[in-house]
Amino acid sequence: MIEYENLQKLNAPFFSEYTKSFSETLKSGWYILGNNVKQFEQEFAKYCGTEYCVGVNSGLDALILSILSLNLPKQSEIIVQSNTYIASILSIIQAGYTPVLVEPDIETYNISPKKIEQKITKRTKAILVVHLYGKIADMISINKIAKKHNLKIIEDAAQAHGAMLNNIKAGNWSDVAAFSFYPTKNLGALGDAGAITTNNEQIANKIIALRNYGSQKKYHNKYIGYNSRLDEMQAGFLSVKLKYLDKINNHKRELAKKYNQNLNDSFIKPKTSKNFYDVFHIYNIRHKKRDELKQYLLKNRVKTEIHYPISPNNQEALQDFYKNKKNPISEEIHNTTLSLPISFFHTKQDIEKVVEYINKFK
Ligand SMILES: *Cc1c(COP(=O)(O)O)cnc(C)c1O
Repeated sequence: MIEYENLQKLNAPFFSEYTKSFSETLKSGWYILGNNVKQFEQEFAKYCGTEYCVGVNSGLDALILSILSLNLPKQSEIIVQSNTYIASILSIIQAGYTPVLVEPDIETYNISPKKIEQKITKRTKAILVVHLYGKIADMISINKIAKKHNLKIIEDAAQAHGAMLNNIKAGNWSDVAAFSFYPTKNLGALGDAGAITTNNEQIANKIIALRNYGSQKKYHNKYIGYNSRLDEMQAGFLSVKLKYLDKINNHKRELAKKYNQNLNDSFIKPKTSKNFYDVFHIYNIRHKKRDELKQYLLKNRVKTEIHYPISPNNQEALQDFYKNKKNPISEEIHNTTLSLPISFFHTKQDIEKVVEYINKFK
């Protein structure tokens, strides 16, 4: 059986370092907002090339606090791509704003800059840009549009740790960027965790307060805050794994290359281009008979996933916003996309096997 993901196998190379980190944290007697969090924040800011990093409790919280840090007026609309993972959209609603969906580019799966301007209204105050599957969005065009219309940019970099455009990393293309360290992400913790990167000191300070009851000075509460702290155990594990992130990304890129070179042309493969350094959190192909292909692979003992099966505009929870609204490009992607195995523990031989089966599919 070729599994889609296996967290035990994914983490096995790091077990002894994790155990050492766990034991040191345990013995330190300090479990919330201590040296591990400080150290990881410094390391991750350095990795992304940003001035600041603030650790929080999850990717969703990182998005919510990022949005709140911008002090947008009530009733603001925030543009977001229509084929994203639901968390991007939920974060806008949870922060008290209205998510306005813009369709993606059918080749990159990221937001289509050309379509953004059509959706800008007087209320539009920000664009939440998702670097889906590990490819940075067209940030050059998006930053131009944002500048022209005086909009803030928030990055959802949950799938793009280490991804680059023109050698600039995800997390460094916006006013404020949100990362998730959910265990399956390229930089994954051993539980829930997230972080925010920014080059703006005021934004960083507001998030430092918001994650801790709105307080930066003990018992002095400046904002209606949250409890969304990154904990010391997870920060310790993340510092261990961060040392290997480039290796993990390189490995996934090698596997993706193998797929791209060997899968036949009846499958739509991810587009790569010169200035984009993609980290393949997900490697997806598209095919008209996606469901049959998935079943066929399962019969041949290859597990796959679908990211994602339902377009957000069709989610029950979002019908108040999008009832009777159509997003044909997203729906096309959701109906045809299939994610192939591409974990750190997979070998080139695993990928060769998957390719061999897929190429025989009719
Ligand atoms: C995983 C993910 C999130 C949410 O992260 P959590 O840590 O699970 O809250 C948000 N956006 C995208 C694009 C994601 O892939």
